[in-house]
Amino acid sequence: MESVDFGVSVPGRYWHSLADGRVQCDLCPRECKLHEGQRGLCFVRARQGAQMVLTTYGRSSGFCLDPIEKKPLNHFLPGTSVLSFGTAGCNLTCKFCQNWDISKARADDRLQQHATPEAIARAAVRSGARSVAFTYNDPVIFLEYAVDVAAACREVGVKTVAVTAGYLGEAARSEFFAAMDAANIDLKGFTENFYRKLCTGSLDAVLDTLSYVKHETNTWLEITTLLIPGENDSSQEIAALSEWVMEKLGPDVPLHFTAFHPDWKMQDKPPTPPVTLKRAREIARETGLRYVYTGNIHDELGQSTYCHACSSRLIGRDWYTITGWGLDVQGACASCGALCSGLFESAPGRWGARRAPIVIAAA
Ligand code: SF4
Repeated sequence: MESVDFGVSVPGRYWHSLADGRVQCDLCPRECKLHEGQRGLCFVRARQGAQMVLTTYGRSSGFCLDPIEKKPLNHFLPGTSVLSFGTAGCNLTCKFCQNWDISKARADDRLQQHATPEAIARAAVRSGARSVAFTYNDPVIFLEYAVDVAAACREVGVKTVAVTAGYLGEAARSEFFAAMDAANIDLKGFTENFYRKLCTGSLDAVLDTLSYVKHETNTWLEITTLLIPGENDSSQEIAALSEWVMEKLGPDVPLHFTAFHPDWKMQDKPPTPPVTLKRAREIARETGLRYVYTGNIHDELGQSTYCHACSSRLIGRDWYTITGWGLDVQGACASCGALCSGLFESAPGRWGARRAPIVIAAA
């Protein structure tokens, strides 16, 4: 039988053949079982002949210099710029997707820019970015490309950041996170019903990933929960989520509660009121979590970092702008000497809140 031509494709990892002739993708818990020529739910992985392929290697929907606080990462080289890019497709189907033009894109609609891993790493150095972020759509589904880009970045001293929903299989996660210096993982809600109804995913799989990254890797971890009015913003659910983070991951993992805006297939909900984000932050802090933030609103009090020992303000922050610095050269509180978890330098970067699209030479 002739195999289907998907255009430019590379062999995909993490799959096996089934007795009935289909091929099962093991990259994420969906375990798509495919006949010749079929694509998985993520659209970008497909069966070609006897194997799985990735159809988006080396192609991107665009490159942009962003503030690292936008990922969001508040404890990883604050104030620096990060060269950000994504591809197309996603392995979740969130009705509230805030990046649906990319995640729902069919590859050829959007992937206009071509770039080798080495070209991306060189562009990061040239532009002064301290890190490269795999973001906009979930990098798990383009693992082979992300891992190669990460290796090229590390060769030239550029760090790597994954922005992901953490919905991937056990076999793939060790390779994926070994390549990442930092990750912001979405914890989209705290009930199986939320994940099943709104994302067709599973909460347990994401909790497994969070525990794995915290306890079995060197990847710096922060968590984001987008609060959607009436869906995942009850005080009980926020308390349960925060208690889980405190008990299973510990007090030093930063937790971001960010504001939803109506998008994609969820146009019937209002934007998250700032008071909801502030309430969530208070609930989470009461469980003992040290670094809890509000996001997508102006709230300098809720976006600054405070010393867990003496409550001095360590990093002033207003949305993506650094407004104050109270850490010493060791990344400890300049007032009392208590360490703040994360990766800090003697001074913050000066990138500010800018967003600057860039074009990368293909080779
Ligand atoms: S990565 Fe894509 S093809 Fe593989 S199981 Fe997940 S959705 Fe299916």
